[in-house]
Amino acid sequence: MGKYPDDTFGALVENRMTMAGHCAACEAYRDIDLTAIEPTRVYINARFKCRDCGSQVQIYISGAASSGQGGRFG
Ligand SMILES: [Zn+2]
Repeated sequence: MGKYPDDTFGALVENRMTMAGHCAACEAYRDIDLTAIEPTRVYINARFKCRDCGSQVQIYISGAASSGQGGRFG
């Protein structure tokens, strides 16, 4: 088990999850660097703004941890 609660950014990093934000105004996805965020911060209801237009983006979380496919990298 990881050292961070499940609802924190630290847990997402430990579980190799990725987060992206979709800006409806720009119709573009914005990668979010989870490692740049305080790991003890709770991600539920976290808000991110588009780096280009400043609109709040819709958050998407994905990762291999819960898919059961055992994703391979490299
Ligand atoms: Zn935007």
